[in-house]
Amino acid sequence: MSAVLIDGKARAAALRAEVAVGVAAFVTAHGRAPGLTVVLVGDDPASAVYVGSKGKATREAGMISGEHRLPAATQEADLLALIARLNADPAVDGILVQMPLPGHIDSDRVIAAIDPAKDVDGLHPINTGLLVSGRPGLVPCTPSGCLMLIQEALGNISGAEAVVIGRSILVGKPMAALLTNASATVTLAHSRTRDLAGHVARADIVVAAVGIPNMVQGDWIKPGACVIDVGINRVALPDGKSRLIGDVDFAAASARAGWITPVPGGVGPMTIACLLANTLSAARARA
Ligand code: NAD
Repeated sequence: MSAVLIDGKARAAALRAEVAVGVAAFVTAHGRAPGLTVVLVGDDPASAVYVGSKGKATREAGMISGEHRLPAATQEADLLALIARLNADPAVDGILVQMPLPGHIDSDRVIAAIDPAKDVDGLHPINTGLLVSGRPGLVPCTPSGCLMLIQEALGNISGAEAVVIGRSILVGKPMAALLTNASATVTLAHSRTRDLAGHVARADIVVAAVGIPNMVQGDWIKPGACVIDVGINRVALPDGKSRLIGDVDFAAASARAGWITPVPGGVGPMTIACLLANTLSAARARA
């Protein structure tokens, strides 16, 4: 392996420590701790684990963690009413509705109901618009964490060729906007892209956010490139156990890349750290 392994765990721990210092200063200045409330509808086990770890990280940063766990059969109107109450609650600085929502609930309508100033997931169309306009707003946590890792590895990325694979509103599109705002030359690739390998071969920065195990081949990677693997895929092992792997063929890619994130331990830990950072920013902006 020649690539430098990007230690997302260590970077995330440093960011969480910075947030905790900011939270302590906020408490001194305003006499209250910032509050993050997470709403979970249904009993998807993976979502329940995410919500649990978000709550724990929130408390560890010195913030107030709120949690609403609603049954899967919750009506959209009741969820919207809860969001309206949280929007009006002065102790709540951040609201996160855990996705995916059950099929009978319109997630676009739910996201649009969140006060953009409390939208710590950065998914509200106002925040999306601010991001694309290059203006300050709340930015989705995963791409925000990826950008930090990229800039820490490469420094100034002005003029760099970047390829983002995947165009979701959660990861791919905001990632492309962040890289564009940082003056990279960005290609946003997706399931209809022709010659993905050819695009990746030109890239100084590759961000893979697809959800297909090992789909990015090692020999596509430009020697020395910075490879950020957002994918989290659980694959079965012959012994009946399972493990998490990314969207990039890690062993082959790390022989060519200059920097690479592992899965797990790369992008994942940054997502929660950035959520805490967003909550502190939201609290500061509201105060
Ligand atoms: P998504 O399913 O919403 O989007 C996947 C994207 O991949 C789509 O835009 C699609 O066009 C593209 N795609 C599908 N097949 C393709 C192909 N053959 N070639 C090129 N593009 C293709 O997924 P998402 O929410 O953006 O998540 C992507 C992955 O990242 C998943 O594995 C998810 O679990 C993971 N994820 C990780 C974190 C984290 O914190 N590390 C956060 C969010 C998502």
